[in-house]
Amino acid sequence: MKDGIMDSSTGTLDAKIPAGPIAEKWSRHKFEIRLVSPANKPKYTLIVVGTGLAGASAAASLSELGYRVKVFCLCDSPRRAHSISAQGGINAAKNYQNDGDSVRRLFYDTVKGGDFRAREANVYRLAEVSGNIIDQCVAQGVPFTREYSGYLDNRSFGGAQVSRTFYANGQTGQQLLLGAYGALMKEAARGNVELTPRREMLDLIVADNRAVGIVCRNLVSGGIETHMADAVILATGGYANVFYLSTNSVMSNATAAWRAHKRGAYFANPCFTQIHPTCIPVSGEHQSKLTLMSEGLRNDGRIWVPRAKGDARPPAEIPHEERWYYLEERYPSFGNLVPRDVASRAAKRVCDDGHGVRGGYAVYLDFEDALARKGIQSLDEKYGNLFEMYERITDEDPRKTPMRIYPAAHYTMGGLWVDYNLMSTLPGLFVIGEANFSDHGANRLGASALMQGLADGYFILPYTIGDFLAGAGKANADANHPSARDAARETQKRLDRLIGLKGKKTVRELHRELGLLLWNTCGMARSADSLNEALKRIPELREEFWNNVNVLGSQGSFNQLLESAGRVADFLELAELMCRDALERNESCGSHLREEYQTDEGEPRRNDDAFCHVAAWEYDSVSETHRLHKEPLRFEEVKLVQRSYA
Ligand SMILES: Cc1cc2nc3c(=O)[nH]c(=O)nc-3n(C[C@H](O)[C@H](O)[C@H](O)COP(=O)(O)OP(=O)(O)OC[C@H]3O[C@@H](n4cnc5c(N)ncnc54)[C@H](O)[C@@H]3O)c2cc1C
Repeated sequence: MKDGIMDSSTGTLDAKIPAGPIAEKWSRHKFEIRLVSPANKPKYTLIVVGTGLAGASAAASLSELGYRVKVFCLCDSPRRAHSISAQGGINAAKNYQNDGDSVRRLFYDTVKGGDFRAREANVYRLAEVSGNIIDQCVAQGVPFTREYSGYLDNRSFGGAQVSRTFYANGQTGQQLLLGAYGALMKEAARGNVELTPRREMLDLIVADNRAVGIVCRNLVSGGIETHMADAVILATGGYANVFYLSTNSVMSNATAAWRAHKRGAYFANPCFTQIHPTCIPVSGEHQSKLTLMSEGLRNDGRIWVPRAKGDARPPAEIPHEERWYYLEERYPSFGNLVPRDVASRAAKRVCDDGHGVRGGYAVYLDFEDALARKGIQSLDEKYGNLFEMYERITDEDPRKTPMRIYPAAHYTMGGLWVDYNLMSTLPGLFVIGEANFSDHGANRLGASALMQGLADGYFILPYTIGDFLAGAGKANADANHPSARDAARETQKRLDRLIGLKGKKTVRELHRELGLLLWNTCGMARSADSLNEALKRIPELREEFWNNVNVLGSQGSFNQLLESAGRVADFLELAELMCRDALERNESCGSHLREEYQTDEGEPRRNDDAFCHVAAWEYDSVSETHRLHKEPLRFEEVKLVQRSYA
């Protein structure tokens, strides 16, 4: 265990949560932490890797504060980050609807939604700053959808009985990212932000137990570069693409986080993966990704399957009394707006039982009633682009026939462990957005990822990083430091090894095999048997990768096969840790449904006595093994109860 991150009285990980009443912790902390004076800020150089909502908002804010900021991303433009695909909305406790919302209610819903496996103090802070995010974005000109009166409109998302989700039709992520990108480019034009697109971070440079730089590959020329700084911020997104088929952008990957993990940053709750209930079902073997249909659609769409097993009639021919609105029946209080883990499991269960569309793996999301009540124009105003997307992919118009949907891998609650200041177990390495293990516990509520990424970037990191810099001072390492040279050499060696692979299988074939295995053994449901099977099979797949994969082209040039080979090699290691983590957690909670631990109604059965903790894994580079550490979770504000949405 590393110094400084251990609570010496308990021998467990110390998240450094400030003392005091929950509602005062953040404001007291902001007052008590150290500051870097305006005159000294320009002396510090900060690296931000990633330009999604978390990275772009952080880089812009840090630059506005006066720090010198170097920004890196995979795409040719920062605004092509995966965040752009977010559709449905962003939560904030504004209570514009006067329907009973408050900071405390958003806090409560999020802790309960995460099945009591998130840190109370972080979630409270998230709810507390949520309103500021909306103000900030409106000030930037983000065109949130408005009511006829001109007020910002809200809709409901799963796990809440209030309407607190702000949205920009079905393009919320795109509009928010344009706002953050505008702020970032303003700083770039001022000369304070140095933008370096088309770079892939392949290693973290650690000198004297402090993160001081990164090693990158120039994705256009193939050149290896080292970049040094006083602190490094990872905003590199989530790793749901480990499943091969997911709703994520095909560029999303785990490489930056995984390499940082192998340099000493602990990886927390890797098995907590969110499966989103409303995605267009898999249609064949040649797909490389899946498409999400936003949760926002569940405001007006009703989910059903035929009551009769194997009923092959077209939906229009199935009379209402023969339709099973299983969510509305089982969960009358929340109906179609139960949280994602609950809706996903229910869809799986009815399909496993033979009620799926034509006996297969799909359920209906039907707008018939809403169309009759509100009319096409009203629905098109809210969901027009989603309807069009669905029609283009399936050749079916959801205004005329119900959508067919099924759960798919979507978001990762697991990620690098961070303390209350968003610093990892490696001093100087901060992790924000989906890349950290986040505030969502074992299940993220819809519209909370954008809220968390922007809270981290605009309102939390800009304060907390100052505390670290004020204490640690400038880093004492340049590109000639042995650690920097070693990291660059190791990166080169690994790339040489990858490009030397001249086997018979494609990288994609192996990735697809890994994804399917993981989906079947560590997906919507897991058991000790399935996880043990995966733990036997993954090392075999890894062996096959390093012996029988074919990586074409050269290292010193543009080579997307080489890029994806490196990412899949990392997925093959991460997948094993996900299964170990899932096997170790002998309980069910949120998205982590261990089949052995269920209530009579098929809901997750937690074991709070033994597992009310964050599982944080340390990598030992000498023995090449993982060791588990725990951060106990204490619930003082929200009572630990069996989650119920009935
Ligand atoms: C289809 C879809 C719809 C969604 N809708 C919603 C929604 O409505 N509401 C909501 O709250 N959430 C939604 N989410 C989740 C949300 O969009 C993401 O969790 C969030 O955008 C992640 O933001 P981020 O900034 O952490 O990372 P990302 O947006 O994933 O950005 C990652 C950045 O890191 C860069 N990067 C990655 N690896 C490297 C590397 N090795 N080197 C250099 N750069 C690297 C990338 O180029 C990119 O710039 C949705 C997700 C999907 C898939």
